[in-house]
Amino acid sequence: TTYRVRCAHLDLAELRGVLAVFEDTTDMQQADQMRRDFVANVSHELRTPLTALSGFIETLQGPARDDPAARDRFLGIMGREADRMNRLVKDLLSLSHVEAQERMRPNDPVDLADLLRATRRSLTQLAERNEVIFDEALPEEPVIISGDPDQLRQVFTNLIENAIKYGGRGCTVGLSVDGPAPGLGLRGDAVRATVSDDGPGIETLHIPRLTERFYRVDSHRSREMGGTGLGLAIVKHIINRHRGRMRIDSAPGQGSRFSVILPYDSGRSGRSGPPA
Ligand code: ADP
Repeated sequence: TTYRVRCAHLDLAELRGVLAVFEDTTDMQQADQMRRDFVANVSHELRTPLTALSGFIETLQGPARDDPAARDRFLGIMGREADRMNRLVKDLLSLSHVEAQERMRPNDPVDLADLLRATRRSLTQLAERNEVIFDEALPEEPVIISGDPDQLRQVFTNLIENAIKYGGRGCTVGLSVDGPAPGLGLRGDAVRATVSDDGPGIETLHIPRLTERFYRVDSHRSREMGGTGLGLAIVKHIINRHRGRMRIDSAPGQGSRFSVILPYDSGRSGRSGPPA
């Protein structure tokens, strides 16, 4: 624990002495350290593609100037590096946007089952390229919650993209929605949307750190897959904004399951009858 001590001399008519105020600054120092680490990480992530780009520009201006085959290859790599910078800047902007809104609870009606179906449809091409099969267990009837549809869509896009990318070629990605029910880890009724895969799974020691910015289990693989290391950090902030929580169950050889648990407001729903 660190303290900041502020002192003042007191010299009142009937009282003379020193006033000392001890202020616990541990949180402030930790926040400062996190900010510095974040800036260092962003600089590093941007410098890697930038260094590659300047290297290839030099080569194209010099040794490769008259070699059309090399020029085409280098231009291809430069395009991919520029794409990587674009993705990073896009994710940084999303993160700062979501962080700025974290205190404002979103309040639009969102049908969670429909949202998962639509998100899965938008990722059909990526799934086909990776020979991934979807196994959907989504209710036909609407499951309406209060939320921000665009941000929730981003949550499930990130989770399904990760399941496809890290689950590996030929894996099965499961999508399900259950509830509303009490006792899902939130006070009151909640609904749960789950994205799972039967891929290689994640070692226990990494699981609590997955939602940290730029944390990756295997940096090389993540970069190769086009990852920025910010996907799950964005997911966590969006879920916080919805007053929900995320649960990650995974073990090596057992696949991974990411469950998003969100508060259910019965007044919102068009659905009646007992919980599913
Ligand atoms: P990235 O941009 O690297 O994909 P994320 O924040 O989305 O960043 O994920 C952080 C890390 O969590 C990934 O680099 C990967 O190592 C791991 N991860 C995420 N989802 C899965 C999954 N379904 N299976 C195995 N590992 C995963």
